[in-house]
Amino acid sequence: MKYTLAALGLLLAFNASAFTLNNSAKLTFAQDEVKVNLAGGFCANLGITDEEFMSIIGKAVDTFWNKSPTSRLKLRKGSIVNVDSAFHTDTICTPSTNCTPNPDLEVSSDILISCNTNVSNFSSSAILGVTIPNNVSGDTIYGSLVLINDQANNQFKNKSAEQKASIIAHELGHAFGLGHSPVEDSLMYYATMANRKSLGRDDIDGISYLYPKKQPFSGCGTVDFSGGDKPNYWGGLFIGFALIALVELMRKKRAV
Ligand SMILES: [Zn+2]
Repeated sequence: MKYTLAALGLLLAFNASAFTLNNSAKLTFAQDEVKVNLAGGFCANLGITDEEFMSIIGKAVDTFWNKSPTSRLKLRKGSIVNVDSAFHTDTICTPSTNCTPNPDLEVSSDILISCNTNVSNFSSSAILGVTIPNNVSGDTIYGSLVLINDQANNQFKNKSAEQKASIIAHELGHAFGLGHSPVEDSLMYYATMANRKSLGRDDIDGISYLYPKKQPFSGCGTVDFSGGDKPNYWGGLFIGFALIALVELMRKKRAV
């Protein structure tokens, strides 16, 4: 029985993470900071200006991915950049069964978001965005492209500011290496959920797997308090006493 429980525990532990990877491979940016830039002047049908789009990007990185406590990757709101009009009109993949990134849309560095109207990219107005790391060498991503549906009937324009930020954050997850999560309470769940305001556990597991935070290591089993900042046990003790006193008080009150 004990062994059965232990085996079940192991199984649960292995099933705890459900995130998947983009491109079925562990591709990551090498650097700790990645900028998110916007192709200027292309978003004709989203109902927002480029500046408003930049503030949505800022909200997307700060509300979601930069809140992960156990990953080293920090996404930064970049700038509005001028790029070739092909980013507005061309397909993200060259026509083939598998997606071969269109070389004309290669992103030289970091992440570029562009509005796009190509029907091959957006066969339905329900498709809000498509993303691919399209400048990759070995396991390293040098540049990723996010295309947002800017067709006249796009559904992005009807979303609330919070939803727009979560949609952009979802696409950024693909841009730095994550695939979809089957866990509904995840930003990387394949469908847009209303009122998504934070990362889910599986998102944090995913970004931390790809970009683990390096902990400083200063020796083996030694804790150095000689720097002057001695741990203040009295504070903890006081809170402990205060709690006990409060519980006693409540008990007495209840007894009355
Ligand atoms: Zn997706």
